[in-house]
Amino acid sequence: MLTFDPKQRTLFSAKKQLSFKFCKNKQHQTCNWLIPIESTEEFCTACQLNRIIPDLSDAKNVENWRHLEVAKHRLIYQLQKLHLPLKSKHKDEKGLGFDFVVRQKQSQLMTGHANGIVTILLREADSVFREKTRRELSEPYRTLIGHFRHEVGHYFWDVLISTNNKNLNDFRKLFGDERQNYGLSLQQYYKGEGKIDWQDSYISKYASSHPWEDWAETWAHYLHIMDMVETAYYFGIKTEPKSTNDKMELNAPLDPYKAPLFDSVLKNFIPLTFAVNSINRSMGVPDVYPFVVSSAVVSKMKFIHQVLTGMKKRDEYDS
Ligand SMILES: [Zn+2]
Ligand SMILES: [Zn+2]
Repeated sequence: MLTFDPKQRTLFSAKKQLSFKFCKNKQHQTCNWLIPIESTEEFCTACQLNRIIPDLSDAKNVENWRHLEVAKHRLIYQLQKLHLPLKSKHKDEKGLGFDFVVRQKQSQLMTGHANGIVTILLREADSVFREKTRRELSEPYRTLIGHFRHEVGHYFWDVLISTNNKNLNDFRKLFGDERQNYGLSLQQYYKGEGKIDWQDSYISKYASSHPWEDWAETWAHYLHIMDMVETAYYFGIKTEPKSTNDKMELNAPLDPYKAPLFDSVLKNFIPLTFAVNSINRSMGVPDVYPFVVSSAVVSKMKFIHQVLTGMKKRDEYDS
């Protein structure tokens, strides 16, 4: 049995004890993760991925950066649970990195992904700006964790799909052919020439703009669902509604990262999302999960789950 003493930052087991030090970013209150005391690293596995952080002499920047790090740490925790490779761009050309930047006037810089670098504009951490943008784009949901999950999805398409012929073929059957002109597709989408009947085939309207965006959107939702089901699991949340609809019953919460089939994750997620959305309505706040997952989207998520669980098996086999 393992016990952790937070004051001494020491993990005790029957055989040994392990001591840890704080990540260097604790000084800015942007990180509370630990590193083994003997490690030569100054930053934790999440903070090692940062390439550009904002100018910290501006207090507003520090505040916005803190919000970004909360979301990023949650993302990195989840990617680790999925056994995804998380090499830092500092150490590996094919690795992952984060740029948190302030957009200067007239700059074309956008939140996005290119060659393993996820760029997030600092103003996205400002809730007023984010809500204004959400309404302008008629989005039902816009959050920092949503941005991170979407953008990192583009990176993992490069890592998991583009380099593997079987995965690429399966991807094209479900999401379409990504070789269609990306720039033109987005232009058409923003001109309002996108698909009208997108609801049956896509998780969001934006997902209908191009197969790459469909992948990133579906990937983000897959991560949303896994995180919600895991949180419910650790709280032991069950639902037994006073109605005859047994689809709304959640009897046995499960750890989704140990589920071989996505169906069982979904079986937990549906009653859970109905319950939490209803509770939010009791308080007059927006639904936690304001989306409908169609059967076409379920097939795409099953593919993602399959790719990731296949990878985990290999990983277990290696170790
Ligand atoms: Zn850290
Ligand atoms: Zn995208």
